[in-house]
Amino acid sequence: MRKPQRNEWRNVLLCCMIWAMFGVINLTIAYNQPDLSVYWDNKRLDLSVAPDLKVDIASFCQQLALEYTIDGQQLVIGKESPTIIRFDEIFGYGTSELSHGDKVPVEGLCQALGIAYQLDKQTKIIKLGDTAAHATEIPVLMYHHILPQKDIQGVYYNNNLVVSAENFQAQMTYLKDNGYQTVSLSKLERYIAGEELLPEKSVVITFDDGYLSNYHYAYPILKKNGFTGTIFLLTSYIEEKKQSFDAKRLQYLSWEDIDQMRDVFTFASHTDNMHKLNVSGKSILSQASYDRIVSDLSTSRRLLNHTPYFSYPYGHFSETAKEALRRHGVKLAFIATDGSVKIGDDPLTLKRWDVYRYQALEKFKNIVN
Ligand SMILES: [Zn+2]
Repeated sequence: MRKPQRNEWRNVLLCCMIWAMFGVINLTIAYNQPDLSVYWDNKRLDLSVAPDLKVDIASFCQQLALEYTIDGQQLVIGKESPTIIRFDEIFGYGTSELSHGDKVPVEGLCQALGIAYQLDKQTKIIKLGDTAAHATEIPVLMYHHILPQKDIQGVYYNNNLVVSAENFQAQMTYLKDNGYQTVSLSKLERYIAGEELLPEKSVVITFDDGYLSNYHYAYPILKKNGFTGTIFLLTSYIEEKKQSFDAKRLQYLSWEDIDQMRDVFTFASHTDNMHKLNVSGKSILSQASYDRIVSDLSTSRRLLNHTPYFSYPYGHFSETAKEALRRHGVKLAFIATDGSVKIGDDPLTLKRWDVYRYQALEKFKNIVN
């Protein structure tokens, strides 16, 4: 046998180095590839699907709560009148290769089981079961005061607090007639975390401050349409006694009003008493110390069944405020900047559409469509 020349050794070494480098690059690519998320009827499963779209049979059956056995040649689902899937027929595998831990193409498995399957390569989402289109973003609508058009005079004329009752009614009718559904903040929380997909036509309705007009003009319209919403209350402003409505005055809800609206509204915090601006036009919350925010927040949340939802007065926030909220039980907090909410958004600075600027129906349609 001929002894390898020095050059040849060098080539072998070079080849090895290149091969190793490619290995590292491939590993890096595989590692950085975002995982596929699998949803079963729009709820995320704790199921890992390899980049080649194969899945562990046992994990798949467990996640879908399917009663199953694997006997080497076939997968048996259910006990009475079981579905029997022969692997060699469906996947073209040799029978001896099959056992627990074997990975099979998830699409083939779904086909065999009669489960609808859909892969969105762009979002890396696999949907099983319900494959209807889901929302890629969700508009959160922000309202304040609602008054009949005839009462929008004086200080309320061109005031961005006020949406007319007629326009509010038209907006809700539009949503109802076009198949929209209202989403609760707990569902929105799961949506943002990627735990649940929501229907394409989903919308969140919110009111800030807790005005009595919400009881008289928003509550009956929402109820009639089968919609729900959230009112962010200033707990120190809540009236002890029910007030008779006077369109000329800016009145707040009483505890009795609040209790009467629980079938439509959930109630969340807009601080206890930090709804003020300082001399430079910044909200006092956004300038306050950590301890002061925590103290105000705990008063407000105690009065509201420890609600995990919050909206910043005037939409102004600070890193200190976010930290105080995060550490003291707040899961979602809203600002007042126009925009819709997407999966993966920062849950403590969620955007909302100020409907005042979009109250004309044509403009309103642009927000929700
Ligand atoms: Zn406010």
